[in-house]
Amino acid sequence: MSQKLLQRPKVFGNLFAEVVRRSLCVGCGACVSVCPVASLSMVGDKPRLTGMCIACQMCYNNCPRSYFSEEEVEERIFGRQRGGEEETYLGVYRACYAARSKDEEVLSRCQDGGAVTSILMQLMRDDPGLCAVVASVDTGSDWLPRPVVATSVDELLEGAGTKYTPSPTLLGLRSAVREYGRERVAVVGTPCQIRALRKMQTSPFSPLRLAESVELAIGLFCMETFDHGRLIEYLKGAGLDPSKITRFDIKKGRFMAFEGEELVFKVPLKKMADLVRSCCHSCTDFTSEFADISVGSVGSPEGWATVIVRTERGERALDKAVKAGVLEVKPLGEVKPGLKAVLKLAKGKREKAEGSATA
Ligand SMILES: Cc1cc2nc3c(=O)[nH]c(=O)nc-3n(C[C@H](O)[C@H](O)[C@H](O)COP(=O)(O)OP(=O)(O)OC[C@H]3O[C@@H](n4cnc5c(N)ncnc54)[C@H](O)[C@@H]3O)c2cc1C
Ligand code: SF4
Ligand code: SF4
Ligand code: SF4
Repeated sequence: MSQKLLQRPKVFGNLFAEVVRRSLCVGCGACVSVCPVASLSMVGDKPRLTGMCIACQMCYNNCPRSYFSEEEVEERIFGRQRGGEEETYLGVYRACYAARSKDEEVLSRCQDGGAVTSILMQLMRDDPGLCAVVASVDTGSDWLPRPVVATSVDELLEGAGTKYTPSPTLLGLRSAVREYGRERVAVVGTPCQIRALRKMQTSPFSPLRLAESVELAIGLFCMETFDHGRLIEYLKGAGLDPSKITRFDIKKGRFMAFEGEELVFKVPLKKMADLVRSCCHSCTDFTSEFADISVGSVGSPEGWATVIVRTERGERALDKAVKAGVLEVKPLGEVKPGLKAVLKLAKGKREKAEGSATA
């Protein structure tokens, strides 16, 4: 039994003091999703007690930031712990590819190669009962991401593309199971959100219905996210109208905004350091180390996505998309810059976060 269970009960007050007040909360929504009496709500990107707490300890023990044993979760999800230099920084994995969608509609809407949307699209075609939790923004709005339960390819396409501010993804999982009554859910998330998902699946306080409904966890690479309010103010201060922006991107250390095909803003990322959320400074995970499949842009040529396959489920999902002809893949070793570029960023992020923790 985990040592944590032998200690005094940990309830929302403890979660608030140890995680939220210390600026460690990533805003994943897991605590809100698991509260059995619906006494928690997200206010902005933080949880707040809005009802009576029955001291069940669910919120504390399903939060990825209260405690997280990489070793225990690896044993449970992958059946082994990471080993060797590369896995120290990339997590357990089986194979790496460069991937690109063969679907024109996906290519016109996606961020990189459209690997995420294509894999989900094929999973849904093969199993119409499966839905996916993605992050969408309302057109013409101020780019506030919200979790959406996509039950159709159209909804998947609406969710395509990167939002560089957080979405409380685990609220989407709760909604898929409790409101849509779905038993098979694919979840897309940043590394911290995938950790929340795995904590929910492996915690002694696991919310079983939610945990068992997860068919596939697709993790995104992530170096950092911006605070939504500060990003919008910053863009307005630069003379932009956020509601007109159709796409954001980060490439080669530059943050970019587009209106249609037109590049309307480009700035070195380091000039935006003040907009980065505090919780990201202590984050060690670049490649979504606990996902079934991880996807990012670094490592592959422009227009392609890098895909790291970690589990048998992940392998099957990728295989289906390739066999159905919606996705093309090449071994990552055959493209430039390849895995060494991913490794460099992953190593830098882990060492920086671990360094700041001991400083
Ligand atoms: C906050 C953030 C930071 C990132 N930083 C890096 C980086 O530093 N280096 C790198 O190589 N790659 C990074 N990525 C990943 C990259 O931007 C692409 O998401 C990835 O390459 C997949 O591309 P795709 O074309 O296959 O995805 P698409 O087919 O376009 O699908 C993207 C999926 O991600 C979901 N999504 C978008 N934003 C969010 C969000 N905020 N929270 C949860 N889900 C979301 C969408 O709903 C969609 O389902 C980051 C992604 C995010 C969300
Ligand atoms: S009832 Fe349980 S999950 Fe809800 S706030 Fe209290 S301890 Fe947390
Ligand atoms: S579960 Fe997620 S939203 Fe809740 S306190 Fe922990 S990090 Fe924050
Ligand atoms: S840097 Fe870490 S904590 Fe911040 S959004 Fe990305 S995965 Fe989450």
